[in-house]
Amino acid sequence: MRAMHIQQNYSLKALNSFGVSVSADLFTALRSSDDVDALISWRKANLSTPCLLIGGGSNMLFVHDFKGLAVVVCLKGQELIAEDDDAFYIKAAGGENWHDFVRWTIDEGYAGLENLSLIPGTVGAAPMQNIGAYGVELGDRLQSLDAIDLSTGERRTFNNEECQFAYRDSFFKRQQPDRWLIESVTFRLPKNPKWITAYAGVEAALDGQEPNARLISDAVIALRQSKLPDPKVIGNAGSFFKNPIMPIEQWKALRAKFPDLPGYPQNDNKDLIKTSAGWLIDQCAWKAFRDGDAGIYEKHALVLVNHGEASGKALWDLAERIIKSVKEKFDLTLEAEPRVID
Ligand SMILES: Cc1cc2nc3c(=O)[nH]c(=O)nc-3n(C[C@H](O)[C@H](O)[C@H](O)COP(=O)(O)OP(=O)(O)OC[C@H]3O[C@@H](n4cnc5c(N)ncnc54)[C@H](O)[C@@H]3O)c2cc1C
Repeated sequence: MRAMHIQQNYSLKALNSFGVSVSADLFTALRSSDDVDALISWRKANLSTPCLLIGGGSNMLFVHDFKGLAVVVCLKGQELIAEDDDAFYIKAAGGENWHDFVRWTIDEGYAGLENLSLIPGTVGAAPMQNIGAYGVELGDRLQSLDAIDLSTGERRTFNNEECQFAYRDSFFKRQQPDRWLIESVTFRLPKNPKWITAYAGVEAALDGQEPNARLISDAVIALRQSKLPDPKVIGNAGSFFKNPIMPIEQWKALRAKFPDLPGYPQNDNKDLIKTSAGWLIDQCAWKAFRDGDAGIYEKHALVLVNHGEASGKALWDLAERIIKSVKEKFDLTLEAEPRVID
């Protein structure tokens, strides 16, 4: 078996969308199944060394340098593997760029992922937090995924139910971090798709045109570009806080004090309601706040930004100040959506 190519003291600045200057003691890239086998062997021999899986680094905040082996997943490939009367089944490798993969499905005539256009990152990371946008979540389209337990080398296929998808959550996110390497994901894309346009301005952007996958994707891209900063220009990880979900009684009591408090009923549980973290943060006057290079995006209170040289610690300190002020005003504890690597 080929030995793993490990580099030392490797800069991760280009591998995290906050653009934070941090490094990993050890670094390797997975490009082939030989590389995966070499990683499994290395892991068995080095169980006490922390190991961090990285896709596009667009859902991570590094507060410090990483003292262990950082592994960037670059496995490539995407193909139609089966079809039946109702659906196409498409398999994509974990290192494929998510948005390029979505556009490829549209070019090939497969619909179903268009609402998830322009989400940064990779196919393999998408199930981790069950990515979602414009009325669709990954769990709505995932058939199964192939993963490897890096602590034992066991290979396992998880069906949709076994992934235990929830709002920005999955089985994998709740497990010991970096235990499961997601090698590939298989999608079930319907032959007769129902277009989802009644969400956050998509219908208006279509401007009366008959929907199709490409038009919806283009509309979503335009909407996202108008609202969210491009990480290549301003470092960020998209929405930094999860929208709090609470029992309806708690929400009603809060709304009695704050009549404009948004509320979004949850389809899967009628006793719960979701509110908007962006609204809560806005009410605490954080939008466009800046302390050195750490700040909050001027168009979106949910987006923590690095205007240049902010350290991960400065960004996390600001996030903690925001959490504290929302707690004081609303008695709600915001949770970070990205993984904070401390
Ligand atoms: C501008 C912007 C907009 C965004 N908009 C959205 C949005 O609308 N909806 C949304 O849900 N998210 C959004 N995000 C967050 C982010 O794009 C997603 O979470 C994305 O899936 C992260 O992919 P990644 O490859 O960059 O993951 P990374 O940040 O590299 O990793 C995220 C997590 O997944 C793990 N991981 C990575 N690859 C693998 C693998 N192959 N196997 C196992 N574990 C792995 C990592 O260890 C880590 O725990 C946005 C981010 C940005 C910067």
